[in-house]
Parts: sequence; C-alpha cells; structure tokens
Amino acid sequence: MFYNEAMETAPLEKIQDIQWQKLKDMLEKVYRSNRFYQNSFKKHGVALEDIRELSDITKLPFSTKKDFQKDQEDNPVFGTNLTEPFENYVQFHQTTGTTGKPLKWLDTKESWAWRARCMAHSLAAAGITNKDILLLPFNFGPYTAFWGVYEAAQHLDVLTIPTGGWTTEQRLQSVIENQATVIIGTPTYMLRLAEAAQEEGLDLPGSAIRVVILAGEPGAMIPSVRDKLERGWGARVFEYPGLTETGTYAFMCEHNNQALHIIESEFIVEVLDSTTGKSVADGEAGELVLTNLGRSCSPAIRYRTNDRVRLIKSSCSCGRTFGQLIGGVLGRQDEMLIVRGVNIFPSTMGNIVEKFMELGCEYQIIAFRQGDMDEVRLKIEVTPTSQDVDKLIVPELKKQLNLRVDIEKVPKGTLVRSDYKGKKFIDERGKR
Ligand SMILES: [Zn+2]
Repeated sequence: MFYNEAMETAPLEKIQDIQWQKLKDMLEKVYRSNRFYQNSFKKHGVALEDIRELSDITKLPFSTKKDFQKDQEDNPVFGTNLTEPFENYVQFHQTTGTTGKPLKWLDTKESWAWRARCMAHSLAAAGITNKDILLLPFNFGPYTAFWGVYEAAQHLDVLTIPTGGWTTEQRLQSVIENQATVIIGTPTYMLRLAEAAQEEGLDLPGSAIRVVILAGEPGAMIPSVRDKLERGWGARVFEYPGLTETGTYAFMCEHNNQALHIIESEFIVEVLDSTTGKSVADGEAGELVLTNLGRSCSPAIRYRTNDRVRLIKSSCSCGRTFGQLIGGVLGRQDEMLIVRGVNIFPSTMGNIVEKFMELGCEYQIIAFRQGDMDEVRLKIEVTPTSQDVDKLIVPELKKQLNLRVDIEKVPKGTLVRSDYKGKKFIDERGKR
C-alpha cells in the first residue's frame, strides 16, 4: 500500500527535480536566518550562489552529532540550529543520549506535520489503514520516535490505544481485550512481550495482531529475530529507521523484507567512505549521510548518521522507485573492532549469535583493549536446556568471521533489560 503512489513511483528525474526545488528553498531560508549553518557554510567558504544544481550539495560541509552537541553547549538552551523566530517552535524532543549528552530538537507545527507524513509512509507501506487498531506499548517521554508514530496514525485516521505507564501484563491484556491489530516497539521489547505472553499462557499468535512494526533499533532483517517475532506474535514484521536529528527516513514495504526504501522525495541520501568522505559505488557499504528537505526550521544538512548502510537503486516489485538500503542499517560505523587483524562490526557478530539464543535469553558483546589491541568477549544467558549453546556459537563465529572469542555463560535474566533498547554492545575500549 502506498501513502503517496504518484510520488513513490515517480521516475528518478522527477524525484531529483523535487529534491532540487526543496533543497534550494531550504538553503535560501537557512542562509538568511540559521546561525548554525550560516557559521558552518562561512567557515567552509560556501556561498548560496555556489549551489546551482542538485549535485552541488557535495560542496556543502557535513554536520555531525558532535557539532550539534557543541553548539547546544556553547549556546544554551537550544543551540543555534533554528531558522525561525523562537515563538514558532511548539515541539521539544531529545535523543536517548546513548552517545554523549542528549541533543535537544525543536519543531514548528509545519515541521512536526512533515515528520508525521514521513512516518505515514512507513505505516501505509506496512498495509496499515483506518480499519486497524494500533496499540502503543511505551511511555510517552521526550523521545521522538513514538510521538511520531502517534501523529502519523492520527494523520491516517487510525484508532490508537496508548498504554504509557502500564505494566507488560496490562499491555498484553489490552492487546487481547481490545483486539489490537498492529503494535509498534523496539525488537527488544516486542520479544519481551512475546516471552511474557508465553509465560502467562496468553495466546498472542491467536490474537488479532497481524502486524508488528519495529523501531529504535534494527531487528526485522535479522532472520532469527524476525522468526522469533513472527512466531511469538503470529504476525508480519516490519521496520522503519529514524533519528531525532533527521526524522523517519525509510520504511519496509510488503514486497521485500530484506531492504528499506529511502523516502527520497523528502531526503537526499549519500553513502560515503568514512575516511575519505567520498561516495562509495552503488551497493557498497559506507556511512549514511542524510539531508532532510521538509524541516527547514531545524534541518539536518549532510548529516553524518554514523550508520553503516548499503544503497542500491530500487528494483522492488512493489513498484516504488525510491532507492533501497539492503539489509537496512547494518551497524554503527564507529563500532568497528579490529580483533587480531580482522575487521568486525558487533552487529554482524550479534546477528550470528542471535540465531542460537533461546527466546527471552539476552547476550552482550563487550569490546575492550589489551595493550594496543581490540579484544572481544561474549556474555550469553543460558537456561538448563541451552547450557551447551556456546559449543554451537564458537565454531560459527570462527567459520563466518574468522573470530575466536571467549564466552561467559550466565543464567537467564542476569543481563540488564530495558523496555527501550537492549544494550547488546558494550564498548569499554575508551576506559582505562
Ligand atoms: Zn518495495
């Protein structure tokens, strides 16, 4: 299902025209009254007149999370990435702060509505209509992701059930009693709900839920996670990625559960080699760099997401021409480890480990430094029936990644869990 079929299936040239028009309009506003980008562009010697066509975007400097963090520190309270007068801003959100001090982000009514429209692409692509009942099993805190879903659902006239402040048990009861058809959350929490239902003897696969949408961390394209969720919920699993700094920028369609479509009518996407800053070839892995086109009040221009992706031109049978990220977000660019000469991304390692973990058992990948070398240790939870799981994991890691790894087994329930994101990768390399 489409949110905007004409746009989503438009020829590439038309999409590029739209991108250029939107970019030009945004840059005019930003050059006029956004101090953050005025300073950045000036520092890099780029004038508005230098940007004459879409491909000139590469003349603009990158922006990073650190830049915004520093700006907000130097210019309290909200920094200088604000194009409009303060009184126009009506929405406050902040990042979860997993890397450094949380970033605050403000939106105007217009940019908030734009965010909802981006999110609506994701809901529509998962086949959600106004006949669905959407249950939101999370607390409505300052994190933007779930508010965005709520706004998009309202925009699409979907009935929503908020369950903030409720326990896992109450939420499960609500799913069944109110015959919710769609549920959205992090993979960690969706697995936990499925596990809790099993423990309580609730028949989730027999419930009305037909779609589970994942947000906050990747999961739908990790086969073992998808399998567990599909079985636990008796539902199809979708996913969308988004960042507080950029908004929801991609979605999974009903025809391909191994890729995400980029919303190219609202975002300009680049994939770069992190070290050279140059574009990589189609299909090669690199860092995702995004420019959003509908949020000129607090834009992200050439924003380095630190997310590792692989972008190809669309070849999807759904008919969309929006480019695709194969395998979704593959991991964090800065989490790369070099263990005895082998480059390893914790997310790749996690995908292998995940396959062997029993439902409800967690694992952690811990990176640390020994002398000048990166080392990695794996902590896994086991139950009496899965005691020997390490004997399967060790050879598989050796085979697929050429990695020897120490495994520490702990009883199920030992590792920290959270309703939001599970902390699966612990980087202790910076610590002395
Ligand atoms: Zn598709």
